[in-house]
Amino acid sequence: MKISKINVFQVDLPMKEGAYSWSNQSFAAFDSTVVQIETDEGVSGVGEVCPLGPSYLPAYAEGARTGIATIGPDLLGEDPTHLARINHKMDRLLKGHPYVKSAIDIACHDILGKVTGQPVCNILGGRLQEKVKLFKVVSRADPDEMVDKITAYQEQGFKQFQMKVGADPDVDITRINKVANALWEGNVLGADANCGWRQHDAVRVVKATADVKYYVEQPCETYEECRVVRDHCHHPMILDECMDSLQAVLRGYQERAMDVINLKINRLGGLTKARLIRDICVSLGIIMTIEDSWGGEIADAAIAHLAHSTPEDFHFQSSAFHEYATHAIATGAPVIEEGYMRAPETPGLGVEPNWDLLGKPVASISA
Ligand code: MG
Repeated sequence: MKISKINVFQVDLPMKEGAYSWSNQSFAAFDSTVVQIETDEGVSGVGEVCPLGPSYLPAYAEGARTGIATIGPDLLGEDPTHLARINHKMDRLLKGHPYVKSAIDIACHDILGKVTGQPVCNILGGRLQEKVKLFKVVSRADPDEMVDKITAYQEQGFKQFQMKVGADPDVDITRINKVANALWEGNVLGADANCGWRQHDAVRVVKATADVKYYVEQPCETYEECRVVRDHCHHPMILDECMDSLQAVLRGYQERAMDVINLKINRLGGLTKARLIRDICVSLGIIMTIEDSWGGEIADAAIAHLAHSTPEDFHFQSSAFHEYATHAIATGAPVIEEGYMRAPETPGLGVEPNWDLLGKPVASISA
């Protein structure tokens, strides 16, 4: 089987709630890229990459499309089911830029699943969990508004929450206290600063909220700053943005820098590399949030399959982004029910893009 054509589509994902705000950033919509890989045997696969705007991680939507156009021509003729070979070749063609390679790797997994008649979670190790625990994001807003949001989400059945902080530290202290007060018994709260606090401000916030039960997530930009913050608090620590490679995870493990890592598929370069880190984390005893930066139904399917194939004991939570968008870019998305999602059991990712909505490809790479 050979890759015969790579189609690239651009689609906007507007927020149902009007905007999504975290740290010091806020967006009304996200620019997503869908990749379709066609083969000479008629089987095709899809993948998606959606950076959270251009200033969140060293990744941006136009960069994803430019990068795919750069490496795409050299992938023609390759067998998409030979995942290690595809990844090795992508790394030789383009140094770094893992997010560029992510949607291609996901599309190749979709093809391998279809060709072997298996859902992608089987290829990633098997369905170790029947359903995947979700968390709901409480976007940064006025503290009382955030209380209303978390209350409504709890009434919908959600049990795990990630409130966005990382802005003014004094307001963040109020946010954490008020939202934690509104948390129902047994539910789980994380406060994610997304790198937004300076080190001394982060230390002030965790000390001022020392008696509040919550997970602190990526308080500052660098690993070293987060490590200092950890020395000043007893809250469990989740590291996210700085866990950008296997080396970073291993260093964090050696230095006891975190209790949980947030594993984002496109930041690592796709399912092949995310799976490698997932398996090493399971071997080392590190618990994971499994998700991506953002996306629609296709990205969510990849998240769900990776999470399904992770032992429940090591899976902290996942996110499903498609429910935040005003429109669906594909059918067959993981079904969300009472705070859990479940990926389809059909071969591949189990999603079918809404081709009418995606429109004409912005790039088509073929011989
Ligand atoms: Mg995070």
